[in-house]
Amino acid sequence: MNVCVLSGGVGGAKFVRGMVDAVEPSSVTVIGNVGDDLEVLGLHVSPDLDSILYALAGVNDEARGWGRTDESWNALESVAELGGEAWFQLGDRDLGLHLVRAELLREGLPLSAVTARLAARLGIRARILPATDDRLRTFVATGAGELSFQDWFVRRGHRDEVNGVRFEGAETARAAPGVTDALRDADLIVIAPSNPYVSIGPVLAVQEIREALTGRRVPCVAVSPLIGGRSVKGPADRMLSRLQGGTDPIQVTQCYLDLIDALVIDEADADGAAPVEEVGVRVIVARTLMSDSDARRRLAEAALEATAALR
Ligand code: GDP
Ligand code: CA
Repeated sequence: MNVCVLSGGVGGAKFVRGMVDAVEPSSVTVIGNVGDDLEVLGLHVSPDLDSILYALAGVNDEARGWGRTDESWNALESVAELGGEAWFQLGDRDLGLHLVRAELLREGLPLSAVTARLAARLGIRARILPATDDRLRTFVATGAGELSFQDWFVRRGHRDEVNGVRFEGAETARAAPGVTDALRDADLIVIAPSNPYVSIGPVLAVQEIREALTGRRVPCVAVSPLIGGRSVKGPADRMLSRLQGGTDPIQVTQCYLDLIDALVIDEADADGAAPVEEVGVRVIVARTLMSDSDARRRLAEAALEATAALR
């Protein structure tokens, strides 16, 4: 059973962690978002790929919700003291990874090869692929003008309402090596409970990936990132309200129309199932709060069971 998961950062990473507990880890391929990537302090940071790496290596900080466990902030304090760019939170251990990545990229390795090397060193058996090795960057249109993703998300704390998103470089970006093969060889494609606009949007903006999904011969199941119409964390609910007109399961479905065969929604949203079924998407109701490892695995299993029902 080969499973291919499209994922953003923290929400997606939690889900992927459940998936590798539910199936043989080496049969899981994760296609991660790179629209959030940024250059800071001369280093290439891939926040979403790193969340996946840390979660699968079991070194993510569950209490803080992002970054590495057992983290310290000495380097960043020094950066601030010296008047360097210190708005993007980079812990000491995290910086170690960025240093290694920067060095390998400088040697000319593509991001996909660098990510594979980091994953291997962390003992990860699932395959983690960036959606693309090419430069792809998310920008959001707000009342304060167009902002780069991290400017909006981190520097301004995603307080600006979003009127639209744009993925710079998407028109020419090729899928990273292995991505279209993984989608073609998958028995199941899953869209993780990630932000549809700024985490999954940039992945689907890569033409080859979108085409692989529209031309799929196997089921594709999305897991809703909303519980009771609210995001567990982050701006997905506000974005859905503003850009899609609501936060019911049908609005999540509309983000993925023609791309999914089933949607896993939370028990708290079961009332909103009918309109989704009406557009030909099967609804699976589950408990979707990934509060611990059992809950994560059960949610992955719910997505797997959806496939069985679709066959
Ligand atoms: P980011 O790139 O770090 O912002 O992470 P993602 O886009 O992958 O995940 C963010 C989304 O995950 C948010 O919309 C959250 O609502 C959702 N999320 C986080 N934890 C959970 C959970 O336990 N269950 C569900 N269903 N969604 C979650
Ligand atoms: Ca992200």
